[in-house]
Amino acid sequence: MMLTVAKFGGTSVANFDAMVRCANIIKNRADIRVVVVSASAGVTNHLVTLSQQSLSGVEQQAIIDEIATIQYAITECLFDKDEANQEVNEILAQLTQLVAEQNTLQTAKTADAILSCGEQMSSRLFARVLRQLECQGAYFDVRDVMTTNSLFGKAVVDTQALKMNCQQLLSPQLQDVVTVTQGFIGRDGLGSTTTLGRGGSDYSAALLAEAINADDLQIWTDVVGIFTTDPRIAKSAHAIDEISFGEAAEMATFGAKILHPATLIPAIRSSIPVFVGSSREPDVGGTRIMETVSSKPTYRSIALRRQQTLVTVKSPAMLHASGFLAKVFAILASHELSVDLITTSEISVALTFDNPPGSTQAVITEKVVEELEQLCEVQVENNLSLVAVIGNGLLRSQGVGTQVFDAIPEANVRMICHGASDNNLCFLVPEQEGEQVVQTLHDNFFV
Ligand code: ASP
Ligand code: MG
Repeated sequence: MMLTVAKFGGTSVANFDAMVRCANIIKNRADIRVVVVSASAGVTNHLVTLSQQSLSGVEQQAIIDEIATIQYAITECLFDKDEANQEVNEILAQLTQLVAEQNTLQTAKTADAILSCGEQMSSRLFARVLRQLECQGAYFDVRDVMTTNSLFGKAVVDTQALKMNCQQLLSPQLQDVVTVTQGFIGRDGLGSTTTLGRGGSDYSAALLAEAINADDLQIWTDVVGIFTTDPRIAKSAHAIDEISFGEAAEMATFGAKILHPATLIPAIRSSIPVFVGSSREPDVGGTRIMETVSSKPTYRSIALRRQQTLVTVKSPAMLHASGFLAKVFAILASHELSVDLITTSEISVALTFDNPPGSTQAVITEKVVEELEQLCEVQVENNLSLVAVIGNGLLRSQGVGTQVFDAIPEANVRMICHGASDNNLCFLVPEQEGEQVVQTLHDNFFV
C-alpha cells in the first residue's frame, strides 16, 4: 500500500468550506493515511498575542472571542454541532485559564500550552468534517508520539522516540482509518506541551512521514506550488514543476516561506519526495521536490526575505589569532541562535540572522550583545532584506556573478555570499530596495 502524509496549512483549514475541499482531496486519494493540520488561519497569531502581552481582562476576552468566532463558524456547519461545540468550549476554557496564569507568571512553558490550543481545535474539527463526508477519520493526539526536549518555543524532537512511538501507536491503525493529527506541537519528558516554532507544522508532517516510512509527503497550502519568485513582487512569476532537494533546501532557508526551513531535513534524509500544491485547486498540479530532477537550469528562482538582522563583530585581537570565531559561535550557540550568512575580513565578521515576523522572541537580545561585547566591538543593523538567487551550477557556470550584479547597478549591496553552495548566491540590500531588486532580476532571468 502506498502511504502518504498530507499536511494542510492554516488557510486550508480556515473555515468549513476550506476543510471540505481538503476532505475531498483525502477522499480522492486512498494513499493519504495521515493528515496533519495547522491551526485555522489567524488563530495562532491571536494566541501569540495572548501569550506575550499583559493585556487587560477585557482585551483578553475580546481575543478569545475572536478565536471562538473562527471555530464556531465551522461547528455551525457540522451535523454533530453540539458535541463539536463542547470540544471547542473545553479547549477555550483551558485557554482562558492558561491566559490568566500567564498574566501573573510569564513563562515559556505556559506560552507553549497557549499556542497549542489552535491545532488542538482545528484537528478535532477537521476529523469531524472528514466523517461528515463519510471518510473514516480518527482524531489522534500527536503529543503521544512527538517527544521533544523542553526548549519551549522551539523544541527539538527526539526522532528515535518518535519512530518507536509511531510503531506502537500510529502504524497499527493506518490500514483502518485516516489519522488526523496536529502539526507544530509536541510533549517533553515531563508531560508538558511544547511547540516546534512558528510554521512548524510542515516540519511535523515531514517527521511523521519519516517515522512511519511514508512514500510521499504532501504539503497543501494556498499557492499552486513554489514560484520563480513571489507573484506579488513580479507579475510574471510562475509555478515550478519540479525542483531538486538541494535547490529547495536553499529556497526553504533563504527564500519565500512556503515551507518551514526544517521540513526538507527528514525528507532528504529519508528520500521522501515532497509535493507542494493548493488545496483550493488540487487539480492544477504543484511543485514536486525530489532527489533527482530532469531539468537543471542555472536560474530557478529569486527569493526575498525581509527583516534580516546583520551583526558585525570586530576585534583587532582577531588578527592572526585562532579561536576567535569559535568563541563568537559558542555565545550564539548558548542562545540557540542560528546564523544564516557569514562573511569575514581580517579583523571582523559579519553574520546575518533571520527575524521572522510574528516570531515569539526577538533574535538578538541585549543579553547576546552584552556577551559578545566582552569579546569584541558589536554592531547590529536591522531593516535589511536578503535576496537569494537559487539555481544549479552557480559556482561553476561562467559569469554568474557578473550577470546578477550587472542587472542591478543601482542596488546598495551590503553583503554578498557566494561560494559555499552550488545552488545559491545571496546578498543583502536595504529593505526598501528589496522588491525592486527582485523584480529586476526576475525580469532579467525569467521573462
Ligand atoms: N499554527 C502554527 C503557526 O501558525 C504552526 C503552523 O501553522 O505551521 O505558526
Ligand atoms: Mg506554514
